[in-house]
Amino acid sequence: MIRRLLLLTLVLLLLAACRPISAEPGSRAAGAPGLGDPNFAFLGNGGYDVEHYTLDLAVDVQENVITGTTTIRATATQPLSSFNLDLLGLTVDSISVDSMPAGFSRRAHELTISPQEQLSAGDMFTTLVSYSGTPQPLTDPDLAFIAQGWNNQDGTIFVVSEPGGAMTWYPSNNHPLDKASYTMRVTVDAPNVVAANGVLVETIADSDQVTYVWEMAQPMATYLATLAIGDFVRVEGPGPDGTLIRHYFPRDMAESLTAAFANTGEMVDFYSDLIGPYPFDEYGVVVMPFPLGFALETQTLSVFGTDMTMEGVNAHELAHQWFGNDVSPAAWNETWLNEGFASYLQKLWSEEELGSELLDDGMRQYYEAMRQMEIPAPGNVAEGDMFSMAVYERGAWVLHALRLEIGDDLFRQVLRTYYDRFKGSNATTADFIAVASEVSGRDLTDFLSGWIYSAEMPAIPE
Ligand SMILES: [Zn+2]
Repeated sequence: MIRRLLLLTLVLLLLAACRPISAEPGSRAAGAPGLGDPNFAFLGNGGYDVEHYTLDLAVDVQENVITGTTTIRATATQPLSSFNLDLLGLTVDSISVDSMPAGFSRRAHELTISPQEQLSAGDMFTTLVSYSGTPQPLTDPDLAFIAQGWNNQDGTIFVVSEPGGAMTWYPSNNHPLDKASYTMRVTVDAPNVVAANGVLVETIADSDQVTYVWEMAQPMATYLATLAIGDFVRVEGPGPDGTLIRHYFPRDMAESLTAAFANTGEMVDFYSDLIGPYPFDEYGVVVMPFPLGFALETQTLSVFGTDMTMEGVNAHELAHQWFGNDVSPAAWNETWLNEGFASYLQKLWSEEELGSELLDDGMRQYYEAMRQMEIPAPGNVAEGDMFSMAVYERGAWVLHALRLEIGDDLFRQVLRTYYDRFKGSNATTADFIAVASEVSGRDLTDFLSGWIYSAEMPAIPE
């Protein structure tokens, strides 16, 4: 993500709906209602591991009403007499587990499901949730820059869920620790167009309705699932190694936006050379016909407002496809692993054109400014600092300092090794420090811990 008004705006991320749920009496095999995230203890759920989501939704764009089912294929990791999904608002009409009706109860965003028969550890099971209603974005006043989840603005629908908004439009295990593949089958009235994550595999027209079928074959965190519905045109271009570039632009802005995003394929090429092959099958952006104040790296289809269509932002959101999306954070207090990486990689893209001296000069100016402003450490951030200058610019400085310390060649090798080892999965700050130490052949724990955790910025390496 990048926020337009990022600088020094402290936001407090609180999910008002997050309250502890006590286990029902006698339900000793209940799945946990959270995954113990240090910032959001009740996002995600324990006791199972999702493999695939199938979202089958009819969307009335005018009325902003969705009707449909989410089918979740998962494996129990413990005996389960009940388990939780995260879903906020909407009306649940019925739930089945392995084709048998299941009981359920709701409290805040916790949807507790009781299958007729207890599941055993290792069981693969399929949960089908039928639901309907008007999705309401999470509008936390402390998070004024983003209405998390499902938004309908002037008849254009878009989804931007970081960190908790996925539960506004489909039931899920709502934490990056449980990534899964997706099928989205979305029916709308023509001439609306539906863009979503992955590959458009089928378009089915039936009188005045059209169903778009999108497949996201690689694992995806819930906050990266997106959908855009409106008057969009699809613009395609070639990318490296057969990666199709496909953008979705508002019809009347298509010409200028095609020009603005024309070098996306080159960027994919640049990052592929630097880090490793582009992780997914296709890439592109969807631009809303209005400003948003931010852009978000939703997997394979980053969401932009008209105010964010700059080259630097495009480079930033694209870099997230490797760091953030393919290698996802294990906890929400380590957003620097997303934002510090994307911010620094965005600078490496411009370094291609501007040269290393200018990049280094710019980094040193930021360093002085951040010292004077006493910008706190990027590691282990509280909710309010998850999208602050600390994680973006001090986060980027962690990587620049490492590069100055071990040299360009080893630095590049650290990036590649860290990516290769944790792609398709999650990583922690400790994982990154371990890879940097291993690749450089020296224990960099103290060095990197200083840059990541010390309130005061360490001296710049000579
Ligand atoms: Zn970002």
